[in-house]
Amino acid sequence: MTTTRFAPSPTGYIHVGNLRTALMNYLIARKTGGTFILRIDDTDPERSKEEYVDALKQDLEWLGLHWDRVERQSQRLDRYAEAAEKLRGMGRFYEAFETPTELDLKRKKLLNMGNPPVYDRAALALSEEEKDHLRAERGDGVWRFKLDQERIEWTDGILGDISIDAASVSDPVLIRGDGQVLYTLASVVDDTEMGVTHVVRGSDHVTNTATQIQIIQALGGTVPEFAHHSLLTGPQGESLSKRLGTLSLRDLRTQGIEPAALLSLLARLGSSDPVELQTEMAELIEGFDITHFGSAPTKFDVEDLFPLTAKYLLGLDFSAVKDRISELGVPDDLAPGFWAVMRENITTLGDLSEWWTLLRDGADPVIDAEDAEFAAQAMTLLPEGPHDSDSWGTWTAAVKQATGRKGRGLFMPLRKALTGQSHGPDMAQLLPLLQVIKAKE
Ligand code: GLU
Repeated sequence: MTTTRFAPSPTGYIHVGNLRTALMNYLIARKTGGTFILRIDDTDPERSKEEYVDALKQDLEWLGLHWDRVERQSQRLDRYAEAAEKLRGMGRFYEAFETPTELDLKRKKLLNMGNPPVYDRAALALSEEEKDHLRAERGDGVWRFKLDQERIEWTDGILGDISIDAASVSDPVLIRGDGQVLYTLASVVDDTEMGVTHVVRGSDHVTNTATQIQIIQALGGTVPEFAHHSLLTGPQGESLSKRLGTLSLRDLRTQGIEPAALLSLLARLGSSDPVELQTEMAELIEGFDITHFGSAPTKFDVEDLFPLTAKYLLGLDFSAVKDRISELGVPDDLAPGFWAVMRENITTLGDLSEWWTLLRDGADPVIDAEDAEFAAQAMTLLPEGPHDSDSWGTWTAAVKQATGRKGRGLFMPLRKALTGQSHGPDMAQLLPLLQVIKAKE
């Protein structure tokens, strides 16, 4: 039975990069009828905030990524303490006392000599007395996992065969001096005890995976299948790390991006499958294949979400937007017609409000000097309201006859006079919706 998890740290709002991870894990679980766990990685009490836990749940729900259960690392500290004890017992855990400055110095020295900046394990040579002395002087040390210095290998679901020399990796710190358990340990304890079978996460975790494999093995767990997806970059290949704040799911939602657009893009971006709008989760699940994803950085352009959103809206029936339209104050009798016209002319639902204001209050007419006389004459020929779908045809035929104008020279000035804009919905459909027609002062 497949079990996957999405494991965000609640230290901020989740963004498109997180969504890619969440979605892949979700789709794998659903495709195989397995379990999708939402795991809150909140072992850092200072940076973890409850408001972010609530926010990320709302964001996932908005997208329809429902989880089967929630786990919280902060409630499992006893499990991690037990695992730490086990590692200590088997001689795979050691206390080290270097300060950050000392470590930094060591790193710089190694780099200067052209060597990889790997921790030198100096703490392994400390006697009990020396440790007592250091502890008295500096407080408790950090706890490092002693890696077996051999090659760590796995077949990655996206990257293929990976082989990492453990000697090129520092023994990871799993517990901080203040006793805080770090994610590396918490994660393997959870993945093992929760029966996680597949771990999909960003390629920034590849080295973590190498060390976690050894920790899982030391603790007697089963190593899950790992897959590391490439990181998202901006459209020019630039790093997104600084911009991810503005690419939070909340922001995209505020900008009017629809869940279907986001899911459709992110379920395919970086894979050999084409991006196409999919409105049903079942289609996304069916069409998802992790082996189609490549290892190259994946370009993400927020602009791509707008045409997908527009396409999604175009396909929506009136019933799906009825409440939203009613909230704008569109009268019930006009609402279906309003939607029929608008669905073809909006990018996001937010655009509806501007259109409704225009139709309700009338637009400030835009009349070019050379059209002033023509427009004034045309207005005298406008049939009495209420207008229906024939009104525009009747009116423009009469104006054509009276003025001799035709084509663009006839229609464009009328459109601009009525809507204040040079483009927009079909005027024959728009005219019956226009509540007020403003005359030029
Ligand atoms: N909390 C970790 C992160 O957000 C989870 C990584 C993982 O999936 O193991 O980076």
